[in-house]
Amino acid sequence: MSNDNKMLSNKAYDKYKRNPEARAFYRSAAWQKVRLIILQRDNYLCQECFKKDRLTIANIVHHIEPLLDNWDKGLEEDNLESICESCHNKEHPEKGSRKKEVKQSKVRIHKPKTNRAIV
Ligand SMILES: [Zn+2]
Ligand SMILES: [Zn+2]
Repeated sequence: MSNDNKMLSNKAYDKYKRNPEARAFYRSAAWQKVRLIILQRDNYLCQECFKKDRLTIANIVHHIEPLLDNWDKGLEEDNLESICESCHNKEHPEKGSRKKEVKQSKVRIHKPKTNRAIV
């Protein structure tokens, strides 16, 4: 258990953490099975690294279309790819980068702060 979970006020992250269906999904035998199929299909190599000519062991099977957006594709092989942890963090910037670059890269200012004149 890490304490910093609470500090992530992040919707996408919490969405999975709190979603009992998602948790059940990841624990299901069906998922475990498909997961292995995908890893074997991809030779246990990270497909994102592979595109960049790097060979990295994949330890995560990633949903290209997010599970919560598309349950139908949850077990669809075309929607799954093997990926390494660091690439996975890039695929999910909302939950990934809390270790290092959280502070800088996560702060996105949507409100234009220099536009006071408009008011
Ligand atoms: Zn990778
Ligand atoms: Zn993912």
